[in-house]
Amino acid sequence: MAIIAAIEAGGTKFICGIGTEDGKVIERVSIPTTTPEETMGKVIEYFSDKEFDVMGVGSFGPIDPVKGSETYGYITKTPKPYWSDFNMIGELKKHFDVPMEFDTDVNGAALAESWWGAGEGLKNVLYITVGTGIGAGAVVDGKMVQGLTHPEMGHILLKRHKDDKFEGRCPFHKDCLEGIAAGPAIEARWGKKGFELAEVDEVWDMEAYYLAQALVNYILILSPQKIIMGGGVMKQKQLFPKIRKYVQESLNGYVQKKEILEDIDNYIVYPGLGDEAGFVGSIALGKIALEQK
Ligand code: ADP
Ligand code: ZN
Repeated sequence: MAIIAAIEAGGTKFICGIGTEDGKVIERVSIPTTTPEETMGKVIEYFSDKEFDVMGVGSFGPIDPVKGSETYGYITKTPKPYWSDFNMIGELKKHFDVPMEFDTDVNGAALAESWWGAGEGLKNVLYITVGTGIGAGAVVDGKMVQGLTHPEMGHILLKRHKDDKFEGRCPFHKDCLEGIAAGPAIEARWGKKGFELAEVDEVWDMEAYYLAQALVNYILILSPQKIIMGGGVMKQKQLFPKIRKYVQESLNGYVQKKEILEDIDNYIVYPGLGDEAGFVGSIALGKIALEQK
């Protein structure tokens, strides 16, 4: 069985490890995200004594995942200090001569969930993470969605909640979905961290109102067979029933499918791969690279 090197490149940490082509994790380590020089130095050192056939890299965005593009393999314009215009795949290729697949962490997670997780066996799966930022990836007809670049479903524009005066904190759009509903937005609006607000119903009602609106848009545009929601904020499990209820109310019977009308508890779900969805997503990307071998 082929051995896959996998990197989940996140804004706070890089998870590096080794897995197999059936999605199993053999080992993994965590490296803090500081500067590209320091972090990539440690990443390269970690893999230098390992043997593997291919490498999968799932990254925070925005990135350029489009093969043949001039900036393929780069992290592009990110507000994250030091990382703008960093040639991630170029740097890795200097050290490791194996086929590599590069995509967003969330596209990788969507693929992994469609193979080995909550969407096993389905060809149309949406994965959304609600954490420090909001990102979503999609598998459509068995393939990760890509076009001009990768989708940016965390930055869609929404109708504001009638009681919400928070201006939003996305540096690009202020009150896009990420700007009003990611973990740091919850903290800025309510003055406490999400986990400290667990008992305050109003917080999760507003959060569910926004997340449900986003899901309704994704459902109407992409028609996913399963929606998988992960990330730190979704640890507040009371969000799920609220989100499901708002999705049903908002669609108002328009999408006549039993998955939504009757069985929504199994349609909008927590990741089957749990907290591993992102890292196993990078193993899934490595499996795509195997096809190039
Ligand atoms: P990242 O997005 O950086 O990969 P996480 O998915 O853990 O990491 O997201 C971190 C964000 O999620 C923070 O804003 C944090 O406050 C929030 N968060 C983490 N755990 C919880 C929790 N149990 N309840 C509510 N919010 C949480
Ligand atoms: Zn935005």
